[in-house]
Amino acid sequence: MVKNKKVKSIICSVKNLAIALGLFTLIGSFNIPSIDYSLDNDNPKPNGKIIVLDAGHGGRDPGAVGKLSREKDIALAITLKLGKKLEAEIPGTKVIYTRKTDIYPNLYERPALANKHHADLFVSIHLNAGGTTTRRVKNKKGQWVTQKVSNSSAIGTETFVLGYSNMANQDVAIRENASILLEENHEQNYGGFDPKDPSSYIVFKVLKRKYRDQSIRLAKLMQEEYVKAGRGDRGIKEGPFAVLKTAGMPAVLTEVGFISNTEEEKYLMSEKGQEAIVNSLFNAIKKF
Ligand SMILES: [Zn+2]
Repeated sequence: MVKNKKVKSIICSVKNLAIALGLFTLIGSFNIPSIDYSLDNDNPKPNGKIIVLDAGHGGRDPGAVGKLSREKDIALAITLKLGKKLEAEIPGTKVIYTRKTDIYPNLYERPALANKHHADLFVSIHLNAGGTTTRRVKNKKGQWVTQKVSNSSAIGTETFVLGYSNMANQDVAIRENASILLEENHEQNYGGFDPKDPSSYIVFKVLKRKYRDQSIRLAKLMQEEYVKAGRGDRGIKEGPFAVLKTAGMPAVLTEVGFISNTEEEKYLMSEKGQEAIVNSLFNAIKKF
């Protein structure tokens, strides 16, 4: 078994290396349908910041589903509360929402909206899910078999910027990008990109350096604020997220907690929990 594991891990490393090499040598891009990126002159830029808030998923895409709630609903509730607080408490701030109701805007349309309005920040709000792990158990006949069990113990917050160096984070990106499969014409809109196939992530370009550094700074501020509020800190990570890919401004995707952990799910559903998350994100954006 040990030998098998070793061989498997070598194959896995070789695969990851091949994917990583592919990412840096073969640079392609989505064929994004023609989108109007021009500044909306009817709405001149306010004195303060323009912030685009993106509630993850929506409509036919529930996102991760917990025992008691769905990602799309909690993400929307937090997003609306955050936007209201930003506009009320930071004078001159204009908040633009990718959705204010239970609808599904295509992933590529979300950063395009931010580009169109020359936004200063793009923040995508999501809830995490733990995925599965395998364990060896005895079946009814007394034979040892491998069983998949859902990992309900994962807990805490993490914030992502667009990037590729740590392939270990691909599972979150693959889950979040899977929304694409529910979109009509996704093959044309994303240039044949298959969100479930790790090798297809070679289509991602490396984000412009200046936005990357600022995105990391914002992600760091968010994680610091979560920690101050007593939340678990899973750190700042990078991953190939379609919703961040074309943003022409600092952009982060924050996972505010695990819906797959029932205890944390109850916190995420609660008034107190949502208020704490809104405060953390508000403080981070204010300091940025
Ligand atoms: Zn999500």
